[in-house]
Amino acid sequence: MLDHCAHARYVWNLAVEQHAHWYKGRKAAPGFAEQCRQLTEARRANAWLAAGNADVQQQALRDFSRAKNAKFTSGFGEPTWRRKYVHEGFRVIGTDRVPEFEADGSPKRNTHSGKQVMARLVVVHKLNRRWAQVKVPGCGWVKFRLTRRELPKAKTFRVTYRNGRWHIAFAIIPGSIDAPGTGEVIGIDRGVKITAALSDGRKLNCPQLTVKERAQIRKHQRRAARAPKASAAKTAAYARVARLKARETDRRKDWCEKTSTMLARTYDLVRFEKLNIKNMTASAKGTVEQPGRNVRQKAGLNRAILAQGWGLLRRRTEHKAPGRVEDIPAPYTSLRCSACGWIEKNSRKSQAEFVCVSCGFTCNADENAAHNVAAGQGGIPRPRRSAGAGGVTAATSRSSAREPQPVRVGILLV
Ligand SMILES: [Zn+2]
Repeated sequence: MLDHCAHARYVWNLAVEQHAHWYKGRKAAPGFAEQCRQLTEARRANAWLAAGNADVQQQALRDFSRAKNAKFTSGFGEPTWRRKYVHEGFRVIGTDRVPEFEADGSPKRNTHSGKQVMARLVVVHKLNRRWAQVKVPGCGWVKFRLTRRELPKAKTFRVTYRNGRWHIAFAIIPGSIDAPGTGEVIGIDRGVKITAALSDGRKLNCPQLTVKERAQIRKHQRRAARAPKASAAKTAAYARVARLKARETDRRKDWCEKTSTMLARTYDLVRFEKLNIKNMTASAKGTVEQPGRNVRQKAGLNRAILAQGWGLLRRRTEHKAPGRVEDIPAPYTSLRCSACGWIEKNSRKSQAEFVCVSCGFTCNADENAAHNVAAGQGGIPRPRRSAGAGGVTAATSRSSAREPQPVRVGILLV
């Protein structure tokens, strides 16, 4: 299977290179069919490539063409290089020929020949409640742990390898979750202290590594740093670090999956405040000429933000409840009073406390922001009303800026 990974990575990178260095003035870069023809030629010339499985290599090209076509919609952009140990994996196409049917139950026919379309499904055997097996070309039957009750009906599957763990993923797009039909709207405020504060008062936290686990990571990092170059001890220590960090990612993904399913099942409309996570986590490093300030602190905050899985939660909720997720512009959602609509910086007493300076409404700051998100409020500050007159006046800060400044009186020293 590691050989399959190496072959798939090699073929993918060849495709990336071919498209990266393509002279744009001439005709278009070769597509999937042309690349497959070139692959056959390459297999004839290269004994190492010829020893591998042709289907696995061809599927790498298929993956590449899919990624290339979806570069504007996938969110991943242009397909890039796959690195050893980092992006290890390969796709296997099913072998079981099964007739395909239309949605109304009639046999699906080829538009040109009129023959019934046959799909190639993956053969999966269930061994018991927890284990199943699947055929991988060149490896025979490979056992894997089931994470769902029913067996998958997929046309392809993908095997990936990272941090010493093998994973198998069947290519199925699950149906969306039905709305409960209660008309309930929930607002979600995402933060670093509380991962997701809901407008119904619940506070959900994404599990992090424990203090003990973090200490273990530091211990193994220290050992790796002290071990001699290219020694087995160094590799082993780095592997321990990678496994511990993978545990954190696993927990975060698990939490995001469970939480997004809960949101899609319980509420008709889910509102998130619109965050630009990419801008928020931009480095403060700056340039050599103009180094940034508080770089370490910003790096720590960035890590904390990325450890919350904000983007993943939003994305997965959208997948499960398409059309039922909205983005609310984020500015002022944390400064606006959810009771009277007054926007004032001084209302937010601390990280956790919100006391409205206008009406005295007291609330947890995150919950208050979640209420604003649920109401779809925030965005542009409303015209401020001066407390006594009741009329609409210009913002006080702007009017004070136009006032004549007091003249500085100098003392003349003789
Ligand atoms: Zn208020």
